Amino acid sequence: MSIKNRKRVLVTGGAGFLGSHLCERLLQDGCDVLCVDNFYSGVKDNIAHLLGNAHFELLRHDVTFPLYVEVDEIYNLACPASPIHYQWDPVQTTKTSVHGAINMLGLAKRVKAKILQASTSEVYGDPDMHPQREEYWGRVNPIGLRACYDEGKRCAETLFFDYRRQHTLQIKVARIFNTYGPRMHPNDGRVVSNFIVQALRNAPITIYGSGEQTRSFCYVDDLIEGLVRLMDSADEITGPINLGNPTEFTIRELATEVIRLTDSKSSLIYKALPADDPRQRQPDIDRARTVLGWEPQTDLAEGLVRTIGYFRQSLGD
Ligand code: NAD
Ligand code: UDP
Repeated sequence: MSIKNRKRVLVTGGAGFLGSHLCERLLQDGCDVLCVDNFYSGVKDNIAHLLGNAHFELLRHDVTFPLYVEVDEIYNLACPASPIHYQWDPVQTTKTSVHGAINMLGLAKRVKAKILQASTSEVYGDPDMHPQREEYWGRVNPIGLRACYDEGKRCAETLFFDYRRQHTLQIKVARIFNTYGPRMHPNDGRVVSNFIVQALRNAPITIYGSGEQTRSFCYVDDLIEGLVRLMDSADEITGPINLGNPTEFTIRELATEVIRLTDSKSSLIYKALPADDPRQRQPDIDRARTVLGWEPQTDLAEGLVRTIGYFRQSLGD
């Protein structure tokens, strides 16, 4: 790409798990990348390898405050994603989703940038429609422990569609389902990282509840491909659009697979199920297949092997 038409792309939450992979991908695609993060749950190590790249810039900034920069596209990923992180300071979590969305939408409006929101399957709550389609309005407890995240993300979606209707902004809303891969934080309590770390240490694998609850796990590279395709899609494609891997597993099946792939001596132990823990989750990705020509390419075993390799190295086990 020549200097003249290099796209200037802002990634909020760029030092996080997904954000760091997205920054990498955008640099490979020839973009100028501005990574904005306040390091609430992200770490500098995730992007340290990009700091020497002349087309990468890092700005420590909290998106709950206004930001004045000149960009062509905005990926709004800033928000802690794991229950441990987002429940640690729930008021800040809601502020990040809601004030962050207002500030980034205001920025997009001023500079006429296209803006993508990293929304979540949590907008469906503990769903009574299975698998979840985009038309489903969800079943969320508005006052529970997960509400700061779920309702914050729902309000952000509202803001995106109101800015579209009121100010004709170019918006894209991705509803991301559980994603895993290298650079997940080892202590963020998410199930894939927890199980891999426990298995590598031959420590008991902690299953919450009966382990019969289900999730559908998407490998990070597949997810990033979906986000980039959505951003590049035609103006009338606003979403919301589900991005995730539709292959569903019980949490017990995941534990067994992690033990097998790590050749671990870990046993399974059962702990209390956290409040409002969704019983089942599986994306219907018909819309993403039709509109973006996208579907995940990496099966669970292959993605877990790569993620286990990362944790083996980073933990030094
Ligand atoms: P993460 O916690 O690793 O990354 C989030 C990043 O946002 C971190 O670097 C954090 O420091 C930063 N951040 C938080 N509050 C901020 C603020 N006020 N100002 C600036 N930066 C702030 O999480 P992730 O897994 O990379 O998730 C990224 C996005 O994708 C989030 O919006 C999340 O809700 C969404 N998402 C992720 C998943 C998943 O499975 N990983 C699923 C659904 C949705
Ligand atoms: N979980 C578990 N053991 C753990 C961590 C999580 O059994 O050590 C369960 C958790 O109760 C939930 C599922 O795994 O049912 C996925 O949890 P995670 O926090 O990764 O994502 P979310 O609940 O937000 O989908």
